[in-house]
Amino acid sequence: MATSTTISNTANLKKYLGLPQQGSVQAEYIWIDGTNGVRSKTRTLSKPPASVEDLPEWNFDGSSTAQAPGEDSDVYLRPVAIYPDPFRLGDNILVLCECWNGDGTPNKFNYRHECNKLMEQHKEHKPWFGLEQEYTLFDEFGAPYGWPKGGFPGPQGPYYCGVGTGKVYCRDVVEAHYRACLYAGVKISGINAEVLPSQWEFQVGPCEGIEMGDHLWIARYLLHRVAEEFGIKISFHPKPIPGDWNGSGLHTNFSTIEMREEGGMAHILSAIEKLAKRHKEHIAVYGDDNTLRLTGKHETGNIDAFSYGVADRGSSIRIPRSCSKEGYGYFEDRRPASNACPYQITGIMVETILSK
Ligand code: ADP
Ligand code: MN
Ligand code: MN
Ligand code: MN
Repeated sequence: MATSTTISNTANLKKYLGLPQQGSVQAEYIWIDGTNGVRSKTRTLSKPPASVEDLPEWNFDGSSTAQAPGEDSDVYLRPVAIYPDPFRLGDNILVLCECWNGDGTPNKFNYRHECNKLMEQHKEHKPWFGLEQEYTLFDEFGAPYGWPKGGFPGPQGPYYCGVGTGKVYCRDVVEAHYRACLYAGVKISGINAEVLPSQWEFQVGPCEGIEMGDHLWIARYLLHRVAEEFGIKISFHPKPIPGDWNGSGLHTNFSTIEMREEGGMAHILSAIEKLAKRHKEHIAVYGDDNTLRLTGKHETGNIDAFSYGVADRGSSIRIPRSCSKEGYGYFEDRRPASNACPYQITGIMVETILSK
């Protein structure tokens, strides 16, 4: 497949973005499609909305996004959250939407709806999440960004949290994304360069309940958007380069109010016992192609065997050393793949751990 090498002329765009909008607001409606990707389109509003309830429902052609058959293709967009737009600035907004079918049922790929019900049911436990989103950068020709043409870079070692030419790539994209997230009010808590050259991570959290999935999807949307301007492609594939190279995960840090208080370790251990019993069900929603990543090598646990340990990066679940010392805190589920849906992960965690 040939790829266009055209990169947006954002320097030219800038002078138009400074023109007055005459009171109108641009609202970018964002949704998750049927291929685990994000889509968006814009509409003009006559004034800034006071809340999400002020925003009109909208629709799109679901047969063009793998979300609906051609003969019944209307899918409805129901706004659920508003964020300041870091590209258009001013009163302009990003609008996260849920997808609904014409007959009033949630669209097949609307994982938020079910997740939100679970979060509502268990909200007295104040479930907190922190997701570590790993991803890899590719150039416009489809090669890992910055890798030598027709060859391989030196083995892993200097790249993780690396500094200096040949050790990190695309700090420009990563920094731009970080600031865009902060502007939009996404609860991004940090970034670091990863083990594989041209692989990075950003963390979002702690977020309570449904907010986790919302903020992570907006952060993914912003990353794709920012990368457009640099001619970079973002890959969330869990094993972007076969061989002796690290894969990408979506480590999920979790705690409830009981786990965060004195004596919390008992609650953490009982949660881990419950997770052990539903290992297969969790793996089923922890992302596609995860078998390529969860090999037991490269800081992962084996996909067929549940395990846990203190400070153990080769297990399914890691209890941080500090938490084990203090006797309360949180734990990390290291199984989810980088391409997993945060609504599915956080939903099943709450279901497994907090359902009676
Ligand atoms: P790692 O050491 O595995 O690389 P990171 O520092 O990258 O961990 O990410 C840890 C994540 O855990 C952050 O997103 C942070 O906000 C989140 N976190 C911290 N405390 C809690 C908690 N009590 N409950 C849930 N998540 C938490
Ligand atoms: Mn991390
Ligand atoms: Mn990492
Ligand atoms: Mn981690």
